[in-house]
Amino acid sequence: MAEMPPAHPFDDDKLKEECGVYGVIGVADAANFVALGLHALQHRGQEAGGIVSYESETGFNSARRFGYVRDNFTKASLMETLPGHLAIGHVRYSTAGSKGQTAIRDVQPFFGEFSMGGAALAHNGNIVNAEALRRELIDHGSIFQSSSDSECIIHLMARSFQKTIPERMKDALRRVEGAFSIVAMTRTKLIGVRDPLGVRPLVLGRIGDGWALSSETCALDIIGATFVREIEPGEMVVISAGNGVESFRPFQHASSRFCIFEHVYFSRPDSILGGRSVYETRRQIGVELAREAPVEADLVCPVPDSGTPAAIGFSHESGIPYGMGIIRNQYVGRTFIEPTEQIRNMGVRLKLNVNRALIAGKRVVLVDDSVVRGTTSQKIKEMILDAGAAEVHFRIASPPTAWPCFYGVDTPEKEKLLASRMSEEEMRDHLGVDSLRFVSLDGLYRAAGEAGGRTPGCPQYCDACFSGDYPVAPADMIEKGFKLKAAE
Ligand code: SF4
Repeated sequence: MAEMPPAHPFDDDKLKEECGVYGVIGVADAANFVALGLHALQHRGQEAGGIVSYESETGFNSARRFGYVRDNFTKASLMETLPGHLAIGHVRYSTAGSKGQTAIRDVQPFFGEFSMGGAALAHNGNIVNAEALRRELIDHGSIFQSSSDSECIIHLMARSFQKTIPERMKDALRRVEGAFSIVAMTRTKLIGVRDPLGVRPLVLGRIGDGWALSSETCALDIIGATFVREIEPGEMVVISAGNGVESFRPFQHASSRFCIFEHVYFSRPDSILGGRSVYETRRQIGVELAREAPVEADLVCPVPDSGTPAAIGFSHESGIPYGMGIIRNQYVGRTFIEPTEQIRNMGVRLKLNVNRALIAGKRVVLVDDSVVRGTTSQKIKEMILDAGAAEVHFRIASPPTAWPCFYGVDTPEKEKLLASRMSEEEMRDHLGVDSLRFVSLDGLYRAAGEAGGRTPGCPQYCDACFSGDYPVAPADMIEKGFKLKAAE
């Protein structure tokens, strides 16, 4: 069967974050703040978005739409249908569920009506035992409305005998394995939860007399909220007007394994993760790369935009001048969502163009965040050589991506990852560049603030897509025949 074209034909060679979640309580017209927050989280998912709000007169109201937040949730006619002081929202890039062809029924937040009142829920991450749970729930009479793994949580809550929605949520989440950062709401409470390993981010902010929960701090800034703290791995916070922020620990203690790729690529560079500036970590990765893989060259260029901070760090450390050798066209967007074959073949040229005047005759170091399939790297190399570069050296700000992610990031199957099939030298020859080097796993850890590098046997982060060391066994995939590293 022919492979489906990617939802965004010019970003098909990147790993894609699945979702961003956001919630606000205790401010008038909370849905407007949620819309702004989701707009700031748009990089985490562009296919669809949704908002649920609650107001005593009209009850729960929801709107779910395909496309960008700015194209939907800026319309007064829509926002007027989402009144109240409490709202949550979600932006989605599909992974679990109807992959690559999101149906509106898969767009979150999801809603459930329970005997003690309704609850809405938005989930970032991926449940690795969702298929087994779904089978069990359907056998016991649950009727699913969507193909999303996240809906399992609503059904597990419905079957719990606990008396309150937060207690039911605790019950449900103890059955769930994998990565989850959840923002949920009842009629009076805003709830935030992170899985025991804290794989995906979630932060708490203060806005006036109210509170906000967000996947990233950059989405607190946009509404003028102040950052209070991160929700801890394995923590549930229940926020209400009467009790403020209450903290619970529903899960057994586990050592944190935050996704290290959030530092490399997913999060916005103006966000703060684990007390560290994402921009500074990325810049430091460039410093590590320059130390680990020096090269004689005339110019350091980022592959925009995500390679930029690492290129600045590489240039600073190596002393090789920095220049914008590749210019990104900021306005290639959904207009080309269904491009003709001819336009698709132009591929990366529509998004990136070479600054010939700077490149011609130079030995160029190109700094990119990752190599996934290698297709984009190859096209960029061709563009740079066409522009008259004397040499092309790739420096990659992450280790080789050789394993798929099962924790909420869209990755090609293992066989399609270039690094799963080839050594570094083979990849260099395949891409046809003068040299290709990746930052080491230890170098990446050092850049992320772990001075001693990766602790063997007890890594401080999830780095499974580089190491094959999965902190939570991907149960559904193993059942389908996926082989862990030890079994290969
Ligand atoms: S496998 Fe990679 S992308 Fe997925 S959570 Fe772990 S580090 Fe992040």
